Parts: sequence; C-alpha cells; structure tokens
Amino acid sequence: MNGPEIHVTFPPDLHLFLTAGRTPAGRRVVTDGAATLGHVIESLGVPLTEVGRLLVDGREVPVSHIPRAEERVEVRAVERPQQVPGAPLRFLLDVHLGTLARRLRLLGVDAAYTNEDPGDAALAALSARERRVLLSRDRGLLRRREIWAGAYVYSDRPEDQLDDVLRRFAPALAPWTRCTACNGDLTDADKDSVQERLEGGTQRTYDVFAQCTSCGRVYWRGAHHARLEAIVNKALRETAR
Ligand SMILES: [Zn+2]
Repeated sequence: MNGPEIHVTFPPDLHLFLTAGRTPAGRRVVTDGAATLGHVIESLGVPLTEVGRLLVDGREVPVSHIPRAEERVEVRAVERPQQVPGAPLRFLLDVHLGTLARRLRLLGVDAAYTNEDPGDAALAALSARERRVLLSRDRGLLRRREIWAGAYVYSDRPEDQLDDVLRRFAPALAPWTRCTACNGDLTDADKDSVQERLEGGTQRTYDVFAQCTSCGRVYWRGAHHARLEAIVNKALRETAR
C-alpha cells in the first residue's frame, strides 16, 4: 500500500492479535487511501468483534471511517459487560467449544452447538438467522460479515472460557433449567413418570429431578452431580460480585 500514513494504538487486551515483531503500543500504518478503518484494523489481525470505540484525534468515528494522512487512531477494547441489542442474549458455539457449550447450558444460558462441524458459512448464517452471538477461537470465522454478533474466546481452558463469557456478556443465569446434551428446556420429573428410561441401579439409588422437553433425557443427582454443582456455585458466586 502506498497512501496516507496513520498512527494506531491498541489497548493491551488486543495486543495478542497483532502481528509479532512490531511495537504493540503504537504503530504507523500506511493505508491505501480507500480502505475503511475497520478494514485497516482487521488487516493488522484484530477481529472487529473485539473492538469497542474508535477515536480519531480524540473524536469517535465508525468503522466505516476512511483514515486520512497523519490521523491518530485510538482503538479501544469492547466494553464489558457488552450489550448486544435487538435480541434475547443467546449464543452459538463453534465445533471446538463443546465443553463450554455444556457448561453454559448447565447454567441455563441458551447455547447452540453441534458435534459435527457445519462449516463456517453455515455457522455464520445460523448466527444471523437466529440472532446468536457466535463464540469462537477462529479469527477467520469471526471476520465473516454475515454474523449477527461474535466474540473471540481468549482461553483454551473451559474453566477460563466460562469465566470470560460470563464476565463479558453477564447473561442471566438459571442453573438446572436446560438440557446439557441438546440445549432444550428441562421440566420437573419424578421417578415414576420416567421409569422406563432408567437403568435398574439408577432407579434404586438416585432421585430424578428433571427431564428434557426436547430429547427426553432424564436428569438425576448422580455421580457427577457434585462436580456440576461446584461449577454452578462458582458461576453464581462470581456473577454476584
Ligand atoms: Zn435434551
């Protein structure tokens, strides 16, 4: 590119996206004189889903702003908690985030996910159609124009991923109301009504408490319950802070 030169600064939260080997604090960028500021930021490796306000010489501008020579651009990180206007807050997770999807469902957060990868185009289309926030660690996927809203998942550890999503979006929590297998709603159930779905040992030992209205899966307080309860209690504690 051989056009106007501008100066761009990024906050520390976004430095991980920037191409290595350059000074992250502030950098001079040569643009082509026609590209929007959004395009310039993306070309430096930063997904626009992670970008909040954009200030040019102290004045807020939209991503469609076309930078002029010697402008000083300050890129801010997206604000937390992030507001996603226009739809109830619900999510769509890419194929690599199955554990996070199950944990969000455990907390009652609407989290669409399939084990089979539908492909980037189908995920983006589903995000648009159902107005779901697409969660991914794939920057290429998050760059797709058609997605309704998206967010980069910063950690590869499910525990940190859950903290990150809860802090970023502050979704309303309703633990034990959603099926962790299919995202359906749970309804109260007792042992008698679901007897034919239970193994003998389960029938004798555990108290059934819920059944999925979509896939019919039955939930009881079994061997995994303490571990799940710990996840729920931690999330409730942290969101209450
Ligand atoms: Zn289900």
